[in-house]
Amino acid sequence: MTHGDDSGLILPPRVAPIQAVIVPISAGNWKETVLPQAQQVFADLKTAGIRVFLDDRDAYTPGWKYADWEMRGVPVRVEIGPKDIEKRQAVLVSRLDRKKIFVPWDKLAEELKLLLEKIQSEMYRKAKAFHDENTRPARAYPELLEAMAGSRGLIRSGWCGGADCETKVKADTSATIRVILDKPEPAAETCVVCGKDALHTVLFAKSY
Ligand SMILES: [Zn+2]
Repeated sequence: MTHGDDSGLILPPRVAPIQAVIVPISAGNWKETVLPQAQQVFADLKTAGIRVFLDDRDAYTPGWKYADWEMRGVPVRVEIGPKDIEKRQAVLVSRLDRKKIFVPWDKLAEELKLLLEKIQSEMYRKAKAFHDENTRPARAYPELLEAMAGSRGLIRSGWCGGADCETKVKADTSATIRVILDKPEPAAETCVVCGKDALHTVLFAKSY
């Protein structure tokens, strides 16, 4: 939910079931020329521990496949066409910015792993910046009411763990607890509703 864009999902490389999809450019006698090399690249990347898929369906054009895998959120596309065979290279395309990187076959696994790491950290950085920008603290109840009235974001507060306190927040603001964090930060936090010691730091948000 955090990471998608207009083309569909974007899955973080560390959790993506498929980290890279190989799309052979299907033109001319591609099954004799491009496909064997795509199969070799597939085997090499799999051996290197990358979760990779070879899309050798011949009922679809490469462009259709690109859009299909982008929608499914696969972090990197590996393109191999007749010109790449001549140059002994493949093209890596990041799902984040669609930038193309031309890589020689013998460096492919290494470069792909670096790119996956880069995508992972860039996605984390963006998501954290968005979260930080849209999260405000409320230590006292009037502060929480005011914050809820004026913001669509998340409110960070202490919570005693009591159902009554959460019910009161919901009745007064229509917001509910969305995330329960491990422990209060700072340690001496109190419940934003009743003022007792907080068991948890939580994030409240309204649903729309
Ligand atoms: Zn409470």
